Amino acid sequence: MAYDFDLYVIGAGSGGVRAARFAAGFGAKVAVAESRYLGGTCVNVGCVPKKLLVYGAHFAEDFEQASGFGWGLDEAQFDWSTLIANKDREINRLNGIYRNLLVNSGVTLHEGHAKIVDPHQVEINGERFTARNILIATGGWPQIPEIPGHEHAISSNQAFFLKELPKRVLVVGGGYIAVEFAGIFHGLGAKTTLLYRGELFLRGFDGSVRKHLQEELTKRGMDLQFNADIERIDKLADGSLKVTLKDGRQLEADCVFYATGRRPMLDNLGLENTGVKLDRKGFVEVDELYQTAEPSILALGDVIGRVQLTPVALAEGMAVARRLFKPEQYRPVDYKMIPTAVFSLPNIGTVGLTEEEAREAGHEVQIFESRFRPMKLTLTECQERTLMKLVVDANTDKVLGCHMVGPEAGEIVQGLAIALKAGATKRDFDETIGVHPTAAEEFVTMRTPVAG
Ligand code: FAD
Ligand code: NDP
Repeated sequence: MAYDFDLYVIGAGSGGVRAARFAAGFGAKVAVAESRYLGGTCVNVGCVPKKLLVYGAHFAEDFEQASGFGWGLDEAQFDWSTLIANKDREINRLNGIYRNLLVNSGVTLHEGHAKIVDPHQVEINGERFTARNILIATGGWPQIPEIPGHEHAISSNQAFFLKELPKRVLVVGGGYIAVEFAGIFHGLGAKTTLLYRGELFLRGFDGSVRKHLQEELTKRGMDLQFNADIERIDKLADGSLKVTLKDGRQLEADCVFYATGRRPMLDNLGLENTGVKLDRKGFVEVDELYQTAEPSILALGDVIGRVQLTPVALAEGMAVARRLFKPEQYRPVDYKMIPTAVFSLPNIGTVGLTEEEAREAGHEVQIFESRFRPMKLTLTECQERTLMKLVVDANTDKVLGCHMVGPEAGEIVQGLAIALKAGATKRDFDETIGVHPTAAEEFVTMRTPVAG
């Protein structure tokens, strides 16, 4: 049977755009449907605007530290609406770039909500199109627990478009988004509380990293409330919010921001018309080739719930395009050694195993750890300390993990990720000459393992 398209991609986010562009480049006839915004979460309400706000928040400490270097500044003024307007302009520019990328690579763009009507057919804006393969790349959506008063809370989707910077913000959650946005609000001058239900935030990150960030955020005056959970939220007559915790305590805030994970975006997608199966957590179940239980339908990115990061969605998009249309170039995505950064202030950068994971996997480990006050701060009052940590297999000398909390941790760890992927040993690290004076050189000068 002749199909309208070889591949119909639903969702023009990180993974969908990558798969569509490369498939078209390999000669396939491709369409992509997008219901909201070109570039998806990352470009519009994720990585990009988030990083711009983090840069904005960082200026607070830059101004504070400048006086140590002889700079005199009048009192710094911050205007939220300027930051948001400039951010919006940049996102608009990027939306245009994504449109050109798709159109110039020969992809047909359909703007509207796509619904699968059968395993080879999609309906959008009242029209139906057939396709040999359909790719679900619909991403995720913030998930707020349905406690009484949850309608008064916002998620990251709204945080990027607030009309004003709230004076008092309560951030709920202990993952990437909670920690990053708490840093943004705190840096920009809001009185910020981060509320997390467990003992210590950033579950799954290295224990030293979690503890170090806790200490640094506390030093900066952020209110961290662990073992705390919200029972209800009530709106008061003056518009502010009264938050009642499960332990009976009450807090007041102008904004309650939930960052409690993301669910797969499957709303009105028509999966009931297919044999696609969902996993235990409700994400689309795929095999190692991104194939769903319905042979003509594939899925990738946040909607499959593996690793919710843009570079992973990009790699999956590339793998799908190659597998379908350039099989001789197909290489599976390697999910080991995925580097990642949390753009908290200070940043976290990490790649490989945490100390806890390495021990659990049965490695006999040697730990190298360094904590120091960065040189840039020595002329200032700032007492911030950087943490660097290497997890090494004591028998093979292989470096299993690198972890950092400090300025530009993400930038530094990207390079180290290449070394770890190439199988670098601690000896390789030791024999590498440092770049002096930098903070990063500490990673090649740690000589004495931590006792125990
Ligand atoms: P998405 O980018 O979400 O794209 C899915 C697209 O599908 C959307 O545009 C949506 O509108 C569209 N869509 C959905 N349903 C339909 C339909 N039925 N019809 C048509 N279109 C539809 N990752 C990082 O690596 N680094 C970061 O710093 C980072 N920061 C983040 C900050 C925040 C606040 C958030 C929320 C996420 C962040 N992420 C970050 C994660 C990253 O954004 C995602 O992993 C990535 O965007 C996933 O790409 P995707 O292609 O799977 O889905
Ligand atoms: P995460 O899964 O990272 O964190 C969710 C947090 O919310 C956890 O601390 C979790 O606690 C807590 N939580 C979950 N459910 C509840 C509940 N019902 N009540 C109270 N707390 C709850 O999700 P995020 O929303 O922060 O981010 C989604 C994903 O987006 C990230 O996992 C990451 O993959 C990606 N992302 C990446 C970024 C980057 O690369 N810099 C930045 C932002 C997002 P517990 O640990 O106890 O389960």
